Amino acid sequence: DEREQTLNALLVEMDGLETQEGVIVIAATNRPDVLDPALMRPGRFDRQIVLDLPDLKGRKQILDVHSKNIKISKSVELDIIARGTPGFSGADLANVINEAALLAARKNKKEVENEDIEEARDKVRWGRERKSRKISDQDRKITAYHEAGHTLVALNCPKSMPVHKVTIIPRGIAYLGATMHLPIEDRYTQSKQEMLDELAVLLGGRVSEEIIFGDITSGAASDIEYATKIARRMVCIFGMSDKLGTVQYGGRDEHIYLGRDIIRSEGYSEETSREIDIEMKKIIDGAKKRAEEIIIANKNKLDLLAEKLLEVETLDISEIKKLIGIQETPAIPQS
Ligand code: ZN
Repeated sequence: DEREQTLNALLVEMDGLETQEGVIVIAATNRPDVLDPALMRPGRFDRQIVLDLPDLKGRKQILDVHSKNIKISKSVELDIIARGTPGFSGADLANVINEAALLAARKNKKEVENEDIEEARDKVRWGRERKSRKISDQDRKITAYHEAGHTLVALNCPKSMPVHKVTIIPRGIAYLGATMHLPIEDRYTQSKQEMLDELAVLLGGRVSEEIIFGDITSGAASDIEYATKIARRMVCIFGMSDKLGTVQYGGRDEHIYLGRDIIRSEGYSEETSREIDIEMKKIIDGAKKRAEEIIIANKNKLDLLAEKLLEVETLDISEIKKLIGIQETPAIPQS
């Protein structure tokens, strides 16, 4: 394609350069997997610098840079914003500041305040609120119970990602509602218990629908998709199934998005494949059972949460805790 031609032309140029000319050629790509190996030979692009997503310190510095030219209230602590934005790229962070400035301007404020940055952050992460979208009363009710289910299970799974807020205002294109979680810190590894907790939280939405309405909707499709992905990784990549042991089955799937269709050699028998399916289902069934136990044992709190959501649409974590009577430090013993 065009980019490849440009690179080839550059190669010809580079070969023409003498080493003592003191010219350094730098190029960037987010598709390292499809580069012509000739590009990476010694004397060409032979050094590689991987630019990962920024860490806490990096995010703070990026926020500093982008907020330099806008008026920000003294009460805003960019440190805290940086802590609440793990996984954000530099472009996302620039976007957060820009959106916050727009929000503040729309409200005729003289400076950007905390609530503007919070809303901007949520918008960048989860999509824009779409208050005008028409939703039937029945759908609203189902959504309220679905999200209340996620929230309640999360509050009872101490190793799951902390709930940030819960809403039944549709956001982006996909969500009728959302239970938003934010990690406290940058995480590079995740334990088995954390994954099991996360699975229970993911299934909490569907379980709540089942218990309250005796019927289920298609609304849980992305929860189920994500839960299946986690269970597969636990069994096939992280060696977390006792039955299948610490063996990796199949290639790692994370990098496939980077390009070319990588042909995956499964490298295991059909019988093993069946066992993987059984193990994955066992893990998911276990998480579902746990979600059911939590929701049944706390049914009155589920009702409280869902009813309040139908009334006010969005609850942040301190409102949630006040509503269902939890002290600020969540210390609920696991069942
Ligand atoms: Zn859900």
